[in-house]
Amino acid sequence: MTIRTAVITGASSGIGAATARQLAAAGFRVVLTARRADRITALATELADAGHQAVAYPLDVTDRAAVDAFAAELGQQGPVHVLINNAGGALGADPVATADPADWRTMYETNVLGTLHVTQALLPSLTASGDGTVLVLSSTAALATYEGGGGYVAAKHGAHVLAETLRLELCGTPVRVIEIAPGMVKTEEFARTRFRGDETKAAAVYQGVAEPLLAEDIADTITWAVTRPAHVNVDLLVVRPRAQASNQKVHRES
Ligand code: NAP
Repeated sequence: MTIRTAVITGASSGIGAATARQLAAAGFRVVLTARRADRITALATELADAGHQAVAYPLDVTDRAAVDAFAAELGQQGPVHVLINNAGGALGADPVATADPADWRTMYETNVLGTLHVTQALLPSLTASGDGTVLVLSSTAALATYEGGGGYVAAKHGAHVLAETLRLELCGTPVRVIEIAPGMVKTEEFARTRFRGDETKAAAVYQGVAEPLLAEDIADTITWAVTRPAHVNVDLLVVRPRAQASNQKVHRES
């Protein structure tokens, strides 16, 4: 059987790196992309040393020309079967009244346009594979808002709409569209990036939550969803820690 290829954006940390490890363990050839070349190269080496097929390709998903060049180069190596649109994140937690429009722009460009760029560029290859999967890693922020979340919530709603629309448009082709919407996931960088390196604010996000989700939990969910038989489409899967019942209802123990 030919080995299936999975492209993971944002594979340099957190959920993307964990997903790369789990998809490689599940037998995929993994293509790791992110801006930080050193990290994805180290991860590709780690996976190759463990007997898996893994390559690193530095890429900024907001750079359309670079995304097209990536897709052209990848296309010469055979079809892509799975695309994990994971690159993204939040910037700031300011109210709408005072938020920096530049933060909103960056979040939209990364979470929505980045997903659009890579999906458009790889769609011919995913279709040609005869059994393609586009996965959009959105968030529970894609489904409901919260105070201070406006820019991130708007961007993730955009990613959600992209996934919903694409599923309608691809109906009848051999490509399925899966959306995974996680709640609180304790990753090393997500909150630190959001609060621009302020470790106190970043730590407060998870304070008192005994068991937040970890990157491995979401990687497990993603790997399960993309390894279902081809005719099974997990449209939208919301996954939260037990201690979180909504974006704002979180049980904290101290
Ligand atoms: P993370 O560790 O900060 O990962 C974000 C990844 O996106 C990094 O690998 C980063 O790599 C990449 N990235 C950012 N901008 C990029 C760009 N312009 N081009 C290419 N790659 C870019 O955070 P995470 O927690 O694993 O989050 C991963 C995804 O899950 C994000 O879309 C996030 O919004 C979503 N999510 C997270 C949570 C949570 O609570 N952690 C909950 C729901 C959804 P480089 O900096 O190397 O480019």
